[in-house]
Amino acid sequence: MSGAARTAICLLRCDLRTHDNQVLHWAQSNADFVIPLYCFDPRHYLGTHCYGFPKTGPHRLRFLLESVKDLRETLKKKGSTLVVRKGKPEDVVRDLITQLGSVSAVAFHEEATQEELDVEKGLCQVCSQHGVKIQTFWASTLYHRDDLPFRPIARLPDVYTHFRKAVESGAKVRPTLCMADQLKPLAPGVEEGCIPTMEDLGQKDPVTDPRTAFPCSGGETQALTRLQYYFWDTNLVASYKETRNGLVGMDYSTKFAPWLALGCISPRYIYEQIRKYEKERTANQSTYWVLFELLWRDYFRFVALKYGKRIFSLRGLQSKEVPWKKDLQLFDCWKEGKTGVPFVDANMRELAATGFMSNRGRQNVASFLTKDLGLDWRMGAEWFEYLLVDYDVCSNYGNWLYSAGIGNDPRDNRKFNMIKQGLDYDGNGDYIRLWVPELQGIKGADIHTPWALNSAALSQAGVTLGETYPQPVVTAPEWSRHINQGPVSTGKAGMGLV
Ligand code: FAD
Repeated sequence: MSGAARTAICLLRCDLRTHDNQVLHWAQSNADFVIPLYCFDPRHYLGTHCYGFPKTGPHRLRFLLESVKDLRETLKKKGSTLVVRKGKPEDVVRDLITQLGSVSAVAFHEEATQEELDVEKGLCQVCSQHGVKIQTFWASTLYHRDDLPFRPIARLPDVYTHFRKAVESGAKVRPTLCMADQLKPLAPGVEEGCIPTMEDLGQKDPVTDPRTAFPCSGGETQALTRLQYYFWDTNLVASYKETRNGLVGMDYSTKFAPWLALGCISPRYIYEQIRKYEKERTANQSTYWVLFELLWRDYFRFVALKYGKRIFSLRGLQSKEVPWKKDLQLFDCWKEGKTGVPFVDANMRELAATGFMSNRGRQNVASFLTKDLGLDWRMGAEWFEYLLVDYDVCSNYGNWLYSAGIGNDPRDNRKFNMIKQGLDYDGNGDYIRLWVPELQGIKGADIHTPWALNSAALSQAGVTLGETYPQPVVTAPEWSRHINQGPVSTGKAGMGLV
């Protein structure tokens, strides 16, 4: 070794993995001592921007803690560890630089949204004050930002299909990076630090609901196990396009989202595994469709780069300076799954109990909130931010804007019909029966519209509207077309009663 030993701090944020990790990869060949660092930033545990829900709810916090523990164990097996601190990354990094006196570089992956960019700005200031080099990388997407056929990013198309076609024909996915078996050691004198508990961060361990579609734990190890299962052990990936709109269970979709959100799995690794699967087993519309969906994820990240802060503040027709009391009451019904519209309620209750909701469910409850209840889309976005185990700032806000009709949706005023959707995707009502047990006595598709049943049918099912289950807080005229359309239809009180 010539000259002074070089020490690199690798600040890990939403990249909690060792495979395809450019920050760790770079440090491995550019430093003698490497400090992989994770900070529990107190700002992540404050209230959401407009409506003040806890920013990180119990399901995601548990998943995060598991991911941090898993990364520490994996790094330990490679001769390193994960240094953990509670504090703002800017302050923690400053303290480490001062303590060690000889840090040569601070490396991190770049993010796309305001709060994360503010952290990056703070880190740059700290480093410039101490004469420490900053090394940054872009790695959260399938396609690298610099490989996009739109430059500058302001030229990103506002329609997803235009983006997808241009990227698919004009860009390549970069190969994943290999990580050494043995990593560079920590700098001497650096304490590993304790991983906080749920309680330390203001949450209680959530009770695991036996109905959950998401029984897996956080971390790279579990993420890779899930991919192995979904692709290689079961071939589920080969029927993804047919099953992806499911509602019940673990296997109708990949469930990669929570791991992707924390960076426990690399999208480029998923891409390579798809290509391998296509070569060795089968290539069909389903294998392509996983990439199609991952491109949506990319798209919303690039939209965030293009529009900056505006993705949080764009106002819909329904946005008000201060919500009215009636709006807050309707919002309470929505978030508690007590709207009286069973398909909405089932989805909202699943979210609260497990931190997960299917993509089909999300599209419906978002449309219901904004288009049927006429509420501010940011209420829904912040509720999701609090509860989703796979909350990802760009995917969440991008999808909510899209659902509210003020984002990147070329179709004007796309409104979902709750009853049609319920019948199309939960024809016999089994999903509703799982999450809204007080309606279990209603047979078949009638469960979607309890208000349309006559009193004899309701009483036979043990349901009293307004007592055991709410009257619908709203109904839409277009629903009535579907009320007698389900597979089983008995005891109807007639159309358009409410
Ligand atoms: P799969 O169907 O298996 O899809 C594979 C992967 O593709 C997903 O893991 C995800 O990374 C990506 N993907 C799929 N659909 C979308 C989409 N519409 N937008 C962006 N990426 C997509 N996804 C999040 O990861 N975090 C969020 O905070 C989030 N909030 C949402 C809010 C609303 C209102 C809506 C309508 C959708 C939201 N989504 C979000 C997108 C989507 O619902 C989830 O990614 C998906 O349900 C996760 O399950 P899965 O991993 O099994 O997905």
